Amino acid sequence: MRLEGKVAIITGGASGIGRATVEKFVREGAKVLIADISLERAQQASDEIAATGAAGATAACQVDVSVFTEVEAMVAKAVEVFGKLDVIFNNAGIAGGKPLLDHDPSVDYEPMIRVDQDGVYYGILAAGRQFRDQGTPGVIISTSSIYGEQAAELSFTYSAAKAAVISFTRSAAYELAQFGIRAVAITPGRVGTAIINQFSDELKATFAAEQMRNKMTEPSEIADVVAFLASDEANAINGTVVHVDDGYSSFKQRLD
Ligand code: NAD
Repeated sequence: MRLEGKVAIITGGASGIGRATVEKFVREGAKVLIADISLERAQQASDEIAATGAAGATAACQVDVSVFTEVEAMVAKAVEVFGKLDVIFNNAGIAGGKPLLDHDPSVDYEPMIRVDQDGVYYGILAAGRQFRDQGTPGVIISTSSIYGEQAAELSFTYSAAKAAVISFTRSAAYELAQFGIRAVAITPGRVGTAIINQFSDELKATFAAEQMRNKMTEPSEIADVVAFLASDEANAINGTVVHVDDGYSSFKQRLD
């Protein structure tokens, strides 16, 4: 019950890492607003989790994180339903990519920047204002990626957006510490979710082999780390990146 009494928003909470994190937070006693572009899947997740009889509570909310007014409305909804906000997990994201010189900027750059980069900025801004106005401590956790710290095949735009998430985190921690707000970014490696499952079995085997345990990370393993970071036990972790990549970054360095 590490998160008992805390209210959290989890974006992209209907699926994958977000969904596993909702389940973990609720088991730890939190009240969670499951925010996703699909209200239907967010509501389904909320209903399924409620049926487990877990300690906390959930509600569902439709949001397109690439639209600031929707992100502001999401924060207002969490406060309306649960009375306050303590944690935001800016996790919604899309992946994919083309070789750089094949890019059409309106297809291969702008939409992904709007979701993966602007969406995190909007979450930090809207939740940061709420924490400041409440006058209570707040935690901002945002999902970057191993690709936020390195170049990779077909990842020009994704890497840019995920690098911005790390920079936002550092700057937010620096500026918002005066309000008792912490910010942390996580960099998952290869996690068994819909984003990865779209690839061929051969590519998935390569991805698995690049991690120390020769398998994909489970979404629940990321969720365990996010729950710790959201808790008061992580109060000394601020403005930094927590690598949850099963050794990928070290292993790649060893290969190089
Ligand atoms: P996923 O596809 O299972 O979940 C992503 C969720 O985000 C979905 O429920 C989707 O509906 C939602 N979403 C997409 N666009 C949205 C928008 N505009 N507004 C609101 N919600 C939106 O994938 P996942 O692997 O759980 O991804 C979660 C995060 O983890 C993403 O930011 C992704 O980039 C990051 N990540 C994933 C991996 C991996 O290997 N799976 C690795 C590193 C980082």
